[in-house]
Amino acid sequence: MDDLKFGTRNKRGDWSPNGRIEVAPFWAWPPKFLKVLHWLPEYLFPWNAFHMATALAYWYLVVPDVETMKTLSWGWPLYLYAVNAAAIFVMYGSIELFYYAKRVQGNRFKYNAKFPSEQPSDVFWFKSQNIDNFMRSFFISIPLWTVVEVLMLWCFANGSASWVNWNEHPYYLALLVFIAPVIHEVHFFLIHRLIHTPLLYKWIHSVHHNSVNPSPWSSLSMHPVEGFLYHAVALWHLVIPSNPIVALFQLHIAGFGAVNGHIGFEKLEVTEETAVDSHAYAHYLHHKYFEVNYGGDGLIPLDKWFGTWHDGTKEGDAQMQARFQEKKARLNAKSAETASQR
Ligand SMILES: [Zn+2]
Ligand SMILES: [Zn+2]
Repeated sequence: MDDLKFGTRNKRGDWSPNGRIEVAPFWAWPPKFLKVLHWLPEYLFPWNAFHMATALAYWYLVVPDVETMKTLSWGWPLYLYAVNAAAIFVMYGSIELFYYAKRVQGNRFKYNAKFPSEQPSDVFWFKSQNIDNFMRSFFISIPLWTVVEVLMLWCFANGSASWVNWNEHPYYLALLVFIAPVIHEVHFFLIHRLIHTPLLYKWIHSVHHNSVNPSPWSSLSMHPVEGFLYHAVALWHLVIPSNPIVALFQLHIAGFGAVNGHIGFEKLEVTEETAVDSHAYAHYLHHKYFEVNYGGDGLIPLDKWFGTWHDGTKEGDAQMQARFQEKKARLNAKSAETASQR
């Protein structure tokens, strides 16, 4: 595919898409019903449908029976960890293998012209972003994902969560499935904004931001506190009446869905004419500029409401620069004030 039909490439070879990142169309006023109708399939396919498919596969093929899950032991949690790790290895690993190791698509649609393996740095374990990100994912974040999963399933099994049945309340549960990505967006925005406060950033979130040029292995490369808080989104289903399948779906939006923002390519080419949209650009800009796009790509436009939205355009860039200048001026004024008080 010719990526220059969809965007531009600068002198460094970095590619950026034409147009702007649009927030979900149901926020438009007056309402644009046709746009919402067009947006719906994109909302469901392929990513959310994929997360639902894996949730169902887990429930019917992987998750042990309720009797087993009533008791906390080592056996079934370790088994769940093995499945989670294997699934991530296959899913993230195949994107890494084809698009980063074999580079089947070369640089087409790639935001940053460089590949992480070309940029060794002291901030990473063994000076390698790939090794560092891989180890943090498999030895820190996926174990914590599993901790959340075990806690959640154990609560459903022992009756301490209110378990709603599909045949009794199908519409309620269908609605809950439909809004699970909204729950994800709000939860992620809040914890993400929290760990961007100066102290917590230094202690916790800087680990994730070491990857300025992220690849799929960066997705779950997190400090343990972030690894737990991020996956803890599934625990909302212990608070609201829910069902373990919906809770698993919520967990998979986080665990498997983390890859979306870190693919590094706007589109993954499938054939000469067809490609899958990654929805990665908003979060790519977050890795590039740090203080924009704390949420996702505009399902709930929290960043717009809080003034931190970067829509990928020149105007978005100008707004960000103006905000950075304001912040700098504020900090300078503050330090001048403390100096004069001495
Ligand atoms: Zn990230
Ligand atoms: Zn961040």
